[in-house]
Amino acid sequence: MSAYAELMDFQRETEALVQVMGRLGWDQETMMPRGAATQRSEEMAALEGVLHARRTDPRIGEWLEAAEAPDAAGEAAMRLIRRDFARHTRVPARLASELARVTSISQGVWAEARERDEVGHFLPMLAQVVALRREEAAALADGGDPYDALLDDYEPGASGAEIAAMFARMRPRLVALREAVLGSGRERAPLKGLYPSEAQMRLARRLAELFGYDFARGRLDLAVHPFSSGSGSDVRITTRVAEHDPFNCLYSTIHETGHAAYEQGIDPAWRLTPLGQGGSMGVHESQSRIFENQIGRSRAFCGYLHSLMAAEFGDMGLEGAEQFYATVNRVAPGYIRTEADEVQYNLHIMMRFDLERELVAGRLEAAQLEDAWNARFEADFGVAVDRPAHGILQDVHWSIGLFGYFPTYALGNVYAGCLHAALRRDLPDLDAQLAAGDLAPATGWLREKVQRHGGLYRPREVIARACGGEPDEAPLLDYLEAKFGALYGL
Ligand code: ZN
Repeated sequence: MSAYAELMDFQRETEALVQVMGRLGWDQETMMPRGAATQRSEEMAALEGVLHARRTDPRIGEWLEAAEAPDAAGEAAMRLIRRDFARHTRVPARLASELARVTSISQGVWAEARERDEVGHFLPMLAQVVALRREEAAALADGGDPYDALLDDYEPGASGAEIAAMFARMRPRLVALREAVLGSGRERAPLKGLYPSEAQMRLARRLAELFGYDFARGRLDLAVHPFSSGSGSDVRITTRVAEHDPFNCLYSTIHETGHAAYEQGIDPAWRLTPLGQGGSMGVHESQSRIFENQIGRSRAFCGYLHSLMAAEFGDMGLEGAEQFYATVNRVAPGYIRTEADEVQYNLHIMMRFDLERELVAGRLEAAQLEDAWNARFEADFGVAVDRPAHGILQDVHWSIGLFGYFPTYALGNVYAGCLHAALRRDLPDLDAQLAAGDLAPATGWLREKVQRHGGLYRPREVIARACGGEPDEAPLLDYLEAKFGALYGL
């Protein structure tokens, strides 16, 4: 057996175990009885130990030395295995297990702090997480930039400096647009009334199907925080239901369907190989965001969604499809990133990106973070944070050591902007199709141009190939100005 074949066989078993681990995580958020938490953490720690041993197995290094890839896909797979092996072997086992232990405690401390709406013990706990991640970043960076080393885990090849420069170009236009919209005097009311859960879930399933989700290889369940998990022939999504706010359920479902469509759309020949999953968090988010926003919140599709919702819920207190579209795209001041509209969302990310870069670099300490957050929020959004749950405690990411993750959300928006411009060029009848509820041409285009490639290309490369040019922020900003300029009569 050749070194390449041995390496791929070994990797396949690792990928299978990664899927098992993901399914345990899915179960924990959806089905697991509450009393099983302690046993489950032991089960997951055991599997994590097996995975760590496999990922750092010295034979991988030997196989990589000796192996010859038969084709371009094989080369890409080897590149991903090499990268993964280097990352795992650079971090001492002691540090890896300490990080796993401390972040699992820290997540609990964060959840409790958020529930009580008191920063309390959270910042000292966060200080431990920051210290460990700085140590890990230094080990991974190998003399390079520590923040980039963390970022690289989520968005291979991206750099903090490049993202900072892109954000500096985006900020003035986003701020000007936000000021113009909020100063337009056209305030939009949120939706009124109550929308029964069963009807929302029925619609959510219908929307998932419309957007191409394959229920034969997936399922839709409820969870506290919506997510998508799994690859290949078992890709599951979750959503949540609030009876007063059906858009939360429906647009969370469309968003997660975007992530799932990516995983379900990958060439089946790559199942359980390094190419058999999305290329980066940024590319992943581009699929969920273009489904949710550029397609799902378009005027054309909102007209169709309005007819679906009116059949379930009556007129919803709205005058018609045009007012429905304006309500879906309502821009309003708010503290919470996950509830932010398209205009303000990236401003939330910029703030987190700057703060976490300072933290990782050691120019800011966890103990100072709440003050830094509040000062920055007021400067950026013109409102003082009224309580910690609306400020530093709103997101789980930092409590579990995810530094370098936030910017991938904004990169996803930027990539979605580029893909949307290319999609409109290639499908001149897109609006007529969306208005008729025919999403197959759009989702088919994304599958063909992006999703089926899985991990074959580097993140920027897959977007560049789909769009016919290097990705940048201009198409997203042009789209936002045109859309919200029209909506708010600017
Ligand atoms: Zn997402």
